[in-house]
Amino acid sequence: AYSTSHSGVAKKAPEQQVEDLRRAVHARNEGEREFLDAVDEVLNTLRPLLVKYPQYIEPFERLVEPERQIAFRVSWIDDNGNQVVNRGYRVQANSALGPYKGGLRFHKDLNMSVVKSLAFEQVFKNSLTNLLIGAAKGGSDFDPTGRSDGEVMRFCQSFMTELYRYLGPDTDIPSGDINVGSREIGYLFGQYKRLTNHFNGAFTGKDLNWGGSNIRPEATGYGLVYFSEYYCNHRRISLKGHKSIVSGSGNVAIYTVEKLLDLGSIPLTLSDSNGYIYEPAGFTRKDLEFIKELRISQNGYLQQYTAYSKTAKYFPNEKPFTVKADFAFPCAIQGEITLNEASTLAKNGIKGVFEGANLPSSNEAISFFKKNQILFAPGKAANAGGVAVSGLEMIQNSQRQQWSKEVVDEKLRLIMKDIFDTSLKAANDFGYTDDIQAGANIAGFLKVADSMIQQGN
Ligand code: GLU
Repeated sequence: AYSTSHSGVAKKAPEQQVEDLRRAVHARNEGEREFLDAVDEVLNTLRPLLVKYPQYIEPFERLVEPERQIAFRVSWIDDNGNQVVNRGYRVQANSALGPYKGGLRFHKDLNMSVVKSLAFEQVFKNSLTNLLIGAAKGGSDFDPTGRSDGEVMRFCQSFMTELYRYLGPDTDIPSGDINVGSREIGYLFGQYKRLTNHFNGAFTGKDLNWGGSNIRPEATGYGLVYFSEYYCNHRRISLKGHKSIVSGSGNVAIYTVEKLLDLGSIPLTLSDSNGYIYEPAGFTRKDLEFIKELRISQNGYLQQYTAYSKTAKYFPNEKPFTVKADFAFPCAIQGEITLNEASTLAKNGIKGVFEGANLPSSNEAISFFKKNQILFAPGKAANAGGVAVSGLEMIQNSQRQQWSKEVVDEKLRLIMKDIFDTSLKAANDFGYTDDIQAGANIAGFLKVADSMIQQGN
């Protein structure tokens, strides 16, 4: 047990207990840099709360340890008849508020530390949605780049042949994440159905034909822009007429650009792992439609955009954060903004950074933004629209209903407003004026921690 456990607690000052806890967590998870960064990010903002109310130190200690960590072999046959081996993961972080819920990611760099960091992040995010969902994350180091449709299908079937036993509509409900979209969810669900003989809502992000929700593909991007709009309104600034950097080119980035255009904002960039494109006057709706179609074709497609647009420039092997703009929407992947990118953004006069990706900014970058009075919205609050509409998909599935686009979009907007208001209030209640990062951590934590205490585990 950690040194905060019963025997020594009463004698030590709360500050010391929190520090002991931090050290013990670092020792127990040695070498898991991504996970420890995610824990430190939360702990730094919870410190005043834990010192004032030491009864929350133990629940925090429990929350840091995932309820279940699953790692498994996935072997599958490629198009040349070779047997390929990958590793699969599911980290079921917390079930205090409901069944485990969170995405699956296929990415060559995925490892247990990254999955644990994302599952930890999901605890706070899912709590903030108020939809009674617990938290998980999973995926594989499978790299779908250049793989045929048949290979992706066989990989998904093999992956699910192991994972299905841990899932169910009241147990654990995965969805997509990087490189896992409705095609992959289809193959995963198809195999789940064959193995269990159940057609139920054990997945979200399904196709509309067989139980998906309207607005689910758009939800993270739309929700991000709604959240940013509430934040900007609160500070009496506007997204309208202002320039934005968007990184990434998956659903989150694409639908962020779409919603920015709806608001009359000027999105300048998109990126993938090979580089970024810069459209000096901003993408038009027509450009976006072209990009959406290109996307379906293949990975590394962004460069092809320059053949379509005479004004666009392509920058290979670079990130878009050197472009001069008013706002940044990092929507690619964890760790894309380090102190280096943060100081470049600041030098170029950035006013706000709103995270569409999970954990895109390093802890140093976040502190730098706050020190320099740059608005900062953490992904766990700002990108919660995706999992929120997944929660709405679960409700629709259990009612065997499908709601209209308008109904889902309106609910999404209200959820994002509620997350913003709740985070703002928690921040101000604990002396962090207007600090949405601190507020999101505090509000997300208290609901989970109180439930853990009440359930005795
Ligand atoms: N992968 C998304 C996230 O990071 C969505 C998870 C879900 O819908 O379950 O929140």
